[in-house]
This record gives sequence, structure tokens and C-alpha cells, in this order.
Amino acid sequence: MARYTGPSCKLCRREGTKLYLKGERCLSDKCAFNRRTAAPGQHGAAKKKLTEYGMQLREKQKAKRYYGVLEKQFHSYYEKADNQEGIAGENLLRLLERRLDNVVYRMGLAASHKEARQLVLHGHFTLNGHKANIPSILVKVGDVVAVKETDSAKIKELVEAMGEKISPKWLEIDKNAGSAKVVAMPERDDIDFEFNEQLIIELYSK
Ligand code: SF4
Repeated sequence: MARYTGPSCKLCRREGTKLYLKGERCLSDKCAFNRRTAAPGQHGAAKKKLTEYGMQLREKQKAKRYYGVLEKQFHSYYEKADNQEGIAGENLLRLLERRLDNVVYRMGLAASHKEARQLVLHGHFTLNGHKANIPSILVKVGDVVAVKETDSAKIKELVEAMGEKISPKWLEIDKNAGSAKVVAMPERDDIDFEFNEQLIIELYSK
């Protein structure tokens, strides 16, 4: 399974916004973006006016990086979103939100999407009672994502802290069971990160 392994903080500087890729560090004084916001590279500090294409590209890269999805898979989400009824941009974000690793992140069990992906890959979750270790599985209404019974002190600690972060209304959290039930499809205003999804659709539909 391919994934980006380069420096995370550079991605925030490239996109000109905090992408929260390093968990707790992103909320601390150690966040590199607090100290240096210029894009990486020799001419990174030079203010450049983006073309229309440049703005569309940056928006796409921002979404890909925020959710930790590589180009091929991201494009397949676009195709799926474009074929669904409704607004393609919102469909795209809804698909990204429904990924199992994102659900784990929204449950408050991981400090970043990267950490959530790792937890899923290490087999710490079940989906409707069955082992689920594929981060890209898409959940649907009625599904239950739960932490597998474990002796791991770290996982127990994470479950203990569940509910400290606000979870979106499309997930019904059961802290005692260490689970979340999908009670609705994610809506646009459930997503607390700034995206201009229309720019992404315009980029791909050229
Ligand atoms: Fe981005 Fe987090 Fe690095 Fe800050 S600490 S620059 S938010 S990845």
C-alpha cells in the first residue's frame, strides 16, 4: 500500500495552511508552521499570484494531503463522486470522510489521519464485528466501527480519552463499548476544515 513518507511539515508550508499531519505537535508551540509559513524551496518566500489552474491544483493537493490519499485513489474518488447524484464536490468530501481511517480520527482515537491509518493497519478495529484493517474501506449508515478487545495499554488509554474531542453528528459514539455507529451520511457542514471542493472538481473536469 503506497503512502507519502516525506516530511509532513513541508506539506503545510506548501499548501499555506496547517494540515494537522503530526497530531499533538500541530497544536503545540513546536508546530513548524507557526515559525515559518513560506513555501519550501529557494523561491518559496517570493509572493506569487496563482493562476486559476494553480489555485485548483493547490486545493486538490491540500485535500489529498489532509486525508493522506495518493493521486490515483483520489482521482478514483472524484470519478465516483462525479457519477453520483448531487453536487460532485460535496460527494467527493463525503467519500473521503467515510474512509475507515477518517472515522477512527473523527472518533477521537488518533491525533492525526496518519496515526489513524497506522491503528487501522495494525488491526485494532472491527467493522460490524469483523476484523477491518484496510484504511480505505468506506463505511455506510448502520455500520459500527469498534476497537478490538486488546491488552494494549496504549489502545486502552486512547479509548479512555474518547469523547474528549467533539465528534461529528453522523457518528454516535459509545465510549463504554469503544465504538461508533454511523447514523447518517456526513454532510458538508460536518467537515471542520476549509476546502473549496468546487476548485477540485473544476480541475478534474477539464
Ligand atoms: Fe503542519 Fe503539524 Fe507540522 Fe504544524 S506540526 S507544520 S500543523 S504537520
